[in-house]
Amino acid sequence: MFSVYEFFNRISEVNPKIRLDAGQPDIPVREEIIEETIKSLRRGETGYTSTSGIQELREAIADLEGVSPEEIVVGPGAKILIAAEIAAAKRVAVVSPHWNAYSLIANQFGKEVVLIRTTLEEGWTPSLEELNADLLILNYPNNPTGRVLSRSELKGIVEVAEESRIKVLSDEVYADLSFVDFTPVRELYENTVTVKGFSKLYSMTGFRLGYALAEKKEAARIRRFIESTATCVPPFVQRAGLKALELREEIVEAVKGEYQRRVSIASRILRGLEFREPEGAFYIFLRVPGDGVEFAERLLQKGVSVFPGAAFGPYEDFIRISLSGGRLEEGLRIIREEIECALESSATGGWAGSSGVV
Ligand code: PLP
Repeated sequence: MFSVYEFFNRISEVNPKIRLDAGQPDIPVREEIIEETIKSLRRGETGYTSTSGIQELREAIADLEGVSPEEIVVGPGAKILIAAEIAAAKRVAVVSPHWNAYSLIANQFGKEVVLIRTTLEEGWTPSLEELNADLLILNYPNNPTGRVLSRSELKGIVEVAEESRIKVLSDEVYADLSFVDFTPVRELYENTVTVKGFSKLYSMTGFRLGYALAEKKEAARIRRFIESTATCVPPFVQRAGLKALELREEIVEAVKGEYQRRVSIASRILRGLEFREPEGAFYIFLRVPGDGVEFAERLLQKGVSVFPGAAFGPYEDFIRISLSGGRLEEGLRIIREEIECALESSATGGWAGSSGVV
């Protein structure tokens, strides 16, 4: 089975000049956030803290989200909070293509995963009739497709979840990077746990800071999971998070604008190839001729790294381009040339379903 981590190690070995692989934002963390972290450490905030997060941070998040602090659990990154939900489920349904951590975590806990396949031709829109699972994971804006579902599309999905009494885990780590109207799932469906983080908007990946929003009983259960695994988030990291929230409006404007600019540059350079223009986040999921792993390997030899589609489910003829690296335009041109070159040299001169921008 394809392992994205092995591929990532291979990229690190080759050390290409243009990195468009991981979801590591290249926009630096704001200086004020770093300063606040250092100040907190100097104040001696170096010990254990409350397991669901320091009160000031929970209050600031609760304020932002319009809920009570008892409905917030702060954890060391969104991923562990997602793990807290998967650990409590029996069968997990995931809309695919998907961030591969969902299935990796489910495997760690011995849970069954049901993939709900979507296609480029159908605009990556899931169509659900019934669901045999007790947890449905939704992720919009989506990694890797950049798709954002409309309110009515989401409504259709949560109705199916509601009929089958399935809990929804809404991974909204890219919520602030939506270029179109974004509907939080919890506005439509009560039985929803929402997970958000500081990794993408604020580029604070290494700080490891995220939070879950859930009704009080569920929040207490998630808190117990954090207590029994990670204990708590370091207090200086939480202080950094508080500072980030203070600067939030400014950061949203600058960072969202920057990613939107990159998405439109990428869409222009890749015009005519097979992908759906992202409505959020900073990835492009692009169909390539032939096998995505081989294609990514060839690109690597040309100094550009991307992830093969196989890292996101059964999408062997795709690659994911992360628009979070430097020398983006040059990298995109190399990708385009490589596709055109592969098409020219293929006997058929095209690949199934080649129909321009979808
Ligand atoms: N959810 C999705 C969909 C992601 O793409 C990522 C990171 O790539 C995360 C969650 C991870 O968030 P965190 O760094 O807060 O664990």
